Amino acid sequence: KLHNTILELKGNIRVFCRVRPLLPDEGVGTEAPIISYPTATEALGRGIDLTQSGHTYPFTFDKVFNDETSQQDVFVEISQLVQSALDGYKVCIFAYGQTGSGKTYTMMGRPETSEQKGLIPRSLEQIFQASQALQLQGWKYKMQASMLEIYNETIRDLLSTNRSSGFDMSRTENGVPGKQYTIKHDANGNTYVSDLTIVDVCSIKEISSLLQQAAQSRSVGKTQMNEQSSRSHFVFTLRISGVNENTEQQVQGVLNLIDLAGSERLSKSMSTGDRLKETQAINKSLSSLADVIFALAKKEDHVPFRNSKLTYLLQPCLGGDSKTLMFVNISPDPSSIGESLCSLRFAARVN
Ligand code: ADP
Ligand code: MG
Repeated sequence: KLHNTILELKGNIRVFCRVRPLLPDEGVGTEAPIISYPTATEALGRGIDLTQSGHTYPFTFDKVFNDETSQQDVFVEISQLVQSALDGYKVCIFAYGQTGSGKTYTMMGRPETSEQKGLIPRSLEQIFQASQALQLQGWKYKMQASMLEIYNETIRDLLSTNRSSGFDMSRTENGVPGKQYTIKHDANGNTYVSDLTIVDVCSIKEISSLLQQAAQSRSVGKTQMNEQSSRSHFVFTLRISGVNENTEQQVQGVLNLIDLAGSERLSKSMSTGDRLKETQAINKSLSSLADVIFALAKKEDHVPFRNSKLTYLLQPCLGGDSKTLMFVNISPDPSSIGESLCSLRFAARVN
């Protein structure tokens, strides 16, 4: 029996599951597939079954994408959500899953290709195209982008041109080098990060080069800091202010696209020292995120936004009339089955 068949109306929170294809060296010599899709009509496109040691665990989400779903097919399902940021909504789209499950492929993909580019470049293209079309109706938009990384509860500015400001070895927090960026909430209920680089963007070209700069900045961290990128949250934020010159209507939308840190649990051999601290920080922020989404879905009075940097940063964009979508990315590799089950359970909890 499905343990989460009934999808109650849960406000503006949705969960999509995406299973990536087996990679060439995976799943060799294994017989039964660990992942299957229910054939019952009511579960089509929404259900996913995972089989471990002869036991089948069924899950249902708002949407399930199998390993043949293209980037474009996934984008079609989120394009309305992206569009709503232009209408003045605050939108968050997260990718959750273990390292290697396809989070970065889903969010960024291969931006230089037309088929494999991910949701971030596709969303930005749509936003710029749509904002141009809306000019005919008198709309003028101003867009501002920022990109940051949260590692061990420390923020790093990925668009800082001053290398040392993003990576100041003399200042540390939790043993992590970096400037002390702090999150502030203003009187209008918006958050900002002190000293964070915010860039006005007018074209898709400008934003593409910023994305490249951020990717480069992340990979610097990667070699210096033990493949940090899989253990940090990447947060892309586009602020959209629109004014209609005919009607004087105004809108303020925000689009946050977040590639979360790998959700994998710690193997015993690594459970000491820095690695332990790092994993605890990741677990804390991922479970804080789940707690926040869960509290919002249940319409609880107290929502524990302050328990992690990520949720505190995104507070104005979670809850209220904002819209949240969580991708849970799944690897079909039999050796990942334990992590896949954990990810599905996590997502079922927030769903
Ligand atoms: P993560 O960011 O979760 O660590 P990646 O996005 O880097 O995982 O994906 C791991 C590998 O799987 C990469 O080589 C990526 O290109 C490939 N991959 C992931 N998802 C897909 C997909 N839907 N189709 C084809 N290849 C994929
Ligand atoms: Mg990744």
